[in-house]
Amino acid sequence: MSIKALAIGGAALGGLLTLATLPAVIAPTAGYTGTSCGATIGGPVEVIQATIRQLESGGDYTARAPGSSASGAYQFIDSSWAGYGGYPRAYLAPPAVQDAKAAEYIGSVLAANSDDVTTVPVAWYIGHVPPAGSSEWDIVPSPGAGNRLTPREYQAKWMDVYRAKLAEHSGGAPDTADATEPAASTCTGGFGEPLPGGWSLPGPREVLDATAGEIDDPHHDYAAWDWPVPTGTPIYAIRGGNVTSLTTYPHNCYGQANCEACGLGVVITDEQGVQWTYCHGSAHRVNQGDTVAAGQQILDSGNSGNSSGPHLHLGIRTNGVARCPQPLIASLYDHGVGLDPASLPTSGCSY
Ligand SMILES: [Zn+2]
Repeated sequence: MSIKALAIGGAALGGLLTLATLPAVIAPTAGYTGTSCGATIGGPVEVIQATIRQLESGGDYTARAPGSSASGAYQFIDSSWAGYGGYPRAYLAPPAVQDAKAAEYIGSVLAANSDDVTTVPVAWYIGHVPPAGSSEWDIVPSPGAGNRLTPREYQAKWMDVYRAKLAEHSGGAPDTADATEPAASTCTGGFGEPLPGGWSLPGPREVLDATAGEIDDPHHDYAAWDWPVPTGTPIYAIRGGNVTSLTTYPHNCYGQANCEACGLGVVITDEQGVQWTYCHGSAHRVNQGDTVAAGQQILDSGNSGNSSGPHLHLGIRTNGVARCPQPLIASLYDHGVGLDPASLPTSGCSY
């Protein structure tokens, strides 16, 4: 790391202290835009991540700041990192996990600030975005921690790097100007929050927070789970495996005869032969035959097929027998712990 990067790492110490409280002010269901592989926001988020990595650590995923707990490519301090993905410190997590955490935070900043990218560096630097006329814009934060730039100066410097990277990105030119930085290993937001033991939540935690009351809701006819979420919510593979089939009906056919019930859906068969069925999407994020990891985005949620409103339908079958997903989702959400699908009840979760 350069001296410059170290100084900015110190800034992260001051800035990210308040990060953990930020998502509380965000309306979780108001059109989640944090993570996606799509062209719409995938490019910019990827470029935002690359900009932060360059300024915070020179793109070093194993970076550790002396004199603070800031670590990893994005220089998350431990309290902001908060054990993400089961890793005690950011630099111990693989790049994809660090990228996912950063994408989540970037998404929350953008959602809280009308998708204004210029707010990202300010939030990263001092943990919040001051009102336009505030004197805070022109005061160096925590100079004792090694900061030399005011928020306004840091923002300008950051935007210069961002614009250069954006030009490279949109021009499709190879990223040769930045040879020390690892190439993006995956489209950003390709992963949700991974949990120990090869598990994942089915979508962003903040969306589950906003819909926690739905987790134990019974299904309307057989053992399965319906999760009402806004169209476009990233859906992650709860368990990794092989994409054994896709359903491809993109339209809504609620209540119609010969309706292709699952709409745009994905079936994943895991190593134990358990079938995980995800239905009613608005876009596939995987192809048939793909091997997917737990936490990998497989679908954008939607309202396709036999669906009375935007939601994810989740089915889990062991040896063809439908199981109740609710206890598993609750365990993953409340404790970060998976359950053997074969131990899930086969009744009591429908009406
Ligand atoms: Zn359903």
